[in-house]
Amino acid sequence: MTAGIYAVRLGLKTFLITKSFGGQVAKKAVDIENYPGLEKISGPELVKKMEKQLKSLEVKIEIGEVRKVEKENKLFLASTANKKKFQAKALILASGADPRPLEVPGEKEFIGKGVSYCSVCDGPLFKDKVVAIIGGGNAGFETAIFLTKIAKKIYILESGSEVKAFSANQEVVKRSAKAEIITNAVLKEIRGNKFVEAIVYKDKKTKEEKELKVEGVFVEVGYQPATSYVKGLVDFNERDEIKVEFETCKTKTPGLFAAGDLNVGQFKQIITACGEGAKAALAAYNYIQLSANRQ
Ligand SMILES: Cc1cc2nc3c(=O)[nH]c(=O)nc-3n(C[C@H](O)[C@H](O)[C@H](O)COP(=O)(O)OP(=O)(O)OC[C@H]3O[C@@H](n4cnc5c(N)ncnc54)[C@H](O)[C@@H]3O)c2cc1C
Repeated sequence: MTAGIYAVRLGLKTFLITKSFGGQVAKKAVDIENYPGLEKISGPELVKKMEKQLKSLEVKIEIGEVRKVEKENKLFLASTANKKKFQAKALILASGADPRPLEVPGEKEFIGKGVSYCSVCDGPLFKDKVVAIIGGGNAGFETAIFLTKIAKKIYILESGSEVKAFSANQEVVKRSAKAEIITNAVLKEIRGNKFVEAIVYKDKKTKEEKELKVEGVFVEVGYQPATSYVKGLVDFNERDEIKVEFETCKTKTPGLFAAGDLNVGQFKQIITACGEGAKAALAAYNYIQLSANRQ
């Protein structure tokens, strides 16, 4: 959205293709307190503000999923899942990251039937129910803080010997009588009939397999860059993040830029993603100007 705002204000004909607005910010379970100028704001509220600003400008918007990006005769071609094709002189990739799956039996079968990757979206469905959160990092603990207002009981499963969330998040969760943290717990299976009924985990210390009766499973084991559609035009690191030049966010393909969580940048934050979106749009503008001058 930031790249879109900058590009259109630079006078570029701007087209934004997205699956949805807000990405990870829209799914945030607790308020944002580190975006300058907005002391405290919920994720959905911040997204609404950005979307309003973007839509007040002359930017064309297509809701869809880009499946492939190619370059033909100096023009980029983006193809979407619903078979539409869009051409551009410069292209900014800003597709962020998707939740990493657990890859255990039962996960895929119970998506939407108790397995969730978004507590803000699905949390209210678990009113007075027993749920498990898989992952003891900040995302897992933020989900727990959110769910303590809704669920009856919350298990947080962490495969390591200690949880990794910030101590402030840990303190809030530990104050709730509803939350129980289980460390050294490696999830093995999600069980149920029509809906989730239980999870099975292995206790790494005792090597025992244990079952917990739960009606919901919230997956919080990290994110993976959404970069599979752009293979061939960019270089990746070992985590499938796109390599970019820091100064401009440019990739190895002239005219192709990558901003936000999908690139190799170490610090994945809203402000850094927005900053890179601005940088990429300014660099795309320079690239288009230079190409026009050369013709
Ligand atoms: C639980 C949690 C809490 C966080 N808390 C904070 C916080 O308090 N403060 C902070 O600064 N940061 C926080 N972050 C990090 C922050 O949310 C991210 O760094 C930021 O959202 C990255 O923005 P992005 O635009 O690069 O990617 P994303 O937010 O992932 O957005 C990517 C967008 O691209 C779209 N997209 C993906 N693939 C395609 C495709 N193929 N075609 C079309 N569209 C596509 C998606 O639908 C989405 O709209 C948090 C993250 C998580 C997970």
